[in-house]
Amino acid sequence: MKLSHRLDKLPPYLFVEINRKIAEKQARGENIISFAIGDPDIPTPEYIIERLCQAAHEPVNHRYPETAGLPELCQAIARWYHKRFDIALDPTKEVLPLIGSKEGIGHISFCLIDPGDIALVPDPGYPVYSMSTLLAGGEPYFMPLTEKNDFLPDLKAIPEKITKKAKLLWLNYPNNPTGAVTNLDFFQKAVSFAKKHNLAICHDAPYTEVAFDGYQPPSLLQVSEAREVGIEFHSLSKTYNMTGWRIGMAVGNAQMIDALFRFKSNLDSGIPQAIQQAAIKALNGPQDSIVEHNAIYQRRRDKLVKALNNIGLRARLPKASFYIWARIPDGYTSVEFTAELLDKANVAVTPGVGYGNGGEGYVRLSLTLPDERLDEGISRLLQWHRDKGNKLT
Ligand SMILES: *Cc1c(COP(=O)(O)O)cnc(C)c1O
Repeated sequence: MKLSHRLDKLPPYLFVEINRKIAEKQARGENIISFAIGDPDIPTPEYIIERLCQAAHEPVNHRYPETAGLPELCQAIARWYHKRFDIALDPTKEVLPLIGSKEGIGHISFCLIDPGDIALVPDPGYPVYSMSTLLAGGEPYFMPLTEKNDFLPDLKAIPEKITKKAKLLWLNYPNNPTGAVTNLDFFQKAVSFAKKHNLAICHDAPYTEVAFDGYQPPSLLQVSEAREVGIEFHSLSKTYNMTGWRIGMAVGNAQMIDALFRFKSNLDSGIPQAIQQAAIKALNGPQDSIVEHNAIYQRRRDKLVKALNNIGLRARLPKASFYIWARIPDGYTSVEFTAELLDKANVAVTPGVGYGNGGEGYVRLSLTLPDERLDEGISRLLQWHRDKGNKLT
């Protein structure tokens, strides 16, 4: 058998060695505390699950769904965007439900990128932006996100020979993995940049509802001309702890939404309808669970960031997302540092380089583990630091 050349473009999986070590330790009965998984530990709110169970019994939901999604779901998404961001979306043209936003993020590259085209991709960043670019035959151009620039790309620094071949600009705020946030002023600059260079913008925004200290992250579409050039990906995964149900959405520019719909309609048959019904319930229902869950993440954030800074890992308090992006001490690569924590402390973190070369020098820790596991993880980190003969700083 001969597989397609397309697959040769995918780099080897970086975490093979670390995952093998974790599996070995677990097979020996060792208890690893993992800060490496970005997936809410708190269950989906009960009223949403109840709607799913009820909808599962309705025969109408046993049949093929439509790729376009239930009209009631598109309307619920538009209403939710209006309530949350004061944006009026046309549910028939500017909204497309997705089988989780990752699905749409992967497929939109095939709608915009031809062989030889460039996509501007944040580095570090969620790997799907660059991988889907490569699979579509294009080339990612990596825009460094540095602490000095508050983890925002420096759009003016992108050379003209790149912008000429670029078709698409990827943004992601609140950001995974850095936890950085931005404001409408930056989004306005990005929209002007996209208009000037004739680019599309895809803003990946699954963390706008995971935010702290009363902060409310903005939507790209709040910029008045954003809809001329861009779409935003959003998701129920992180907002309602529904990662396992696989449901998200793209909203914004009608031409991009239609292109994504046409592409998808040849590949998938939509989201199982019972799950769409549960999503309608989530979007229309009370939003108190979001506030409650954010209070839990915020407590965890405060404890973990304090501990990390005590042991010499420099980390900022993120205003949003459930990630801590921590600078590691000199003398290690992020993979070496991750291996040492695993070997010596039985604690797993994600090496920054897994999100691109721009992530070297950092590790990512997720707040999605139960409080008692988080506390145990913190005491292991402090113990590891003392065992090395260090004092707490
Ligand atoms: C979790 C995540 C997604 C994907 O979410 P789904 O809707 O579950 O597919 C997309 N982008 C980023 C940055 C994420 O962290």
